[in-house]
Amino acid sequence: MTESRYITSRCIVLRVTDYSETSYILLLLSKDFGLISAIAKGAKKQSSKFFSVFGLLNEFEGEFSRSPNSELLTVINASLIKSYLPGLKYGTVQLLSAGAELIRQSVIDEKESEDYYRLFYNYLSFLPSVEKNQILIFWRYVYSYLKLEGITLVPDNCSHCASKLSNTLFYSNSIGGFICSSCLEKEAILRDLSNNDRIITLTGVTAEIMQKLPSIGNYLEDIAVTPTTYNLINKLLLSYLRFHLNPQINFVSLKHFSVQ
Ligand SMILES: [Zn+2]
Repeated sequence: MTESRYITSRCIVLRVTDYSETSYILLLLSKDFGLISAIAKGAKKQSSKFFSVFGLLNEFEGEFSRSPNSELLTVINASLIKSYLPGLKYGTVQLLSAGAELIRQSVIDEKESEDYYRLFYNYLSFLPSVEKNQILIFWRYVYSYLKLEGITLVPDNCSHCASKLSNTLFYSNSIGGFICSSCLEKEAILRDLSNNDRIITLTGVTAEIMQKLPSIGNYLEDIAVTPTTYNLINKLLLSYLRFHLNPQINFVSLKHFSVQ
C-alpha cells in the first residue's frame, strides 16, 4: 500500500464479522489494494450513516484511514453503490458466496487488484441475470480465476506426453492435470493407481462441459447438468485448486447446493 494516511477505493464486502455491540470487522475486496480488513465503528447502530452499507457482497465507495502499526484500516466514509443479494434465489446466493470464498482464500498482489476486482464484479453482476444452469457460470468463473492465477485448466493435451486427449477425460489428482489413456495405464503401473479416488474420469456431457468451459455462455440452454456431473466437475476443480494453489481451499457455501 502507498504511505498516505488516507486511502479510497471501490470495495465489495466479502465477510462481515461482529466486533463489538456496535462495530463490524469487514473483509473487503478493494479495486486498488487487493484484500483489506477494516473496522466499521458504530456501523451496527441504526442511526449510523453506514447502517445497511456493509451487507454481504455489497459494493461501496470507501474512504479509510490507517495507522502505521496496524493492518486493520478504519472506515471513514462509505457510500453504497449496490446491494446484489436482496431478492435473489437461495441457489444464486450460494453460488455468489462460493465465488466470494474463492477470492477470500486468495493472495492478491496490489498490482493485480483491479483484475481480480473485475473478475468478481463481472461474476456478481452477471450471474443473477442467468435463468438456467447458473452452475456453468460458476465453473466458468473458476476457470477465469485459474487463468488469472496463471494456471489455466485446459483439457486439450495430456500433461504427461502432450498427445491430444480423447472425448473421455482422465484427471489425475497426483499429477494435477489431465492425462491420456496410455499414460494412465503407465501411471497405474508406476503409482499403483488402483485407487479410483486418484483419477477422476469424465465422459459424455461432463467431459464436454470441461472442454467448452471458456465459451460455456453459448451453451447455457443446451446442457443438462445432472447431480453426477455437478459432483464430478466440482471435485475436479477443487482438486486442481488444491494441487496448484492452496491445499486448504474449499467451497463451504456449496455444501447444500443442488442442481435440481
Ligand atoms: Zn499421455
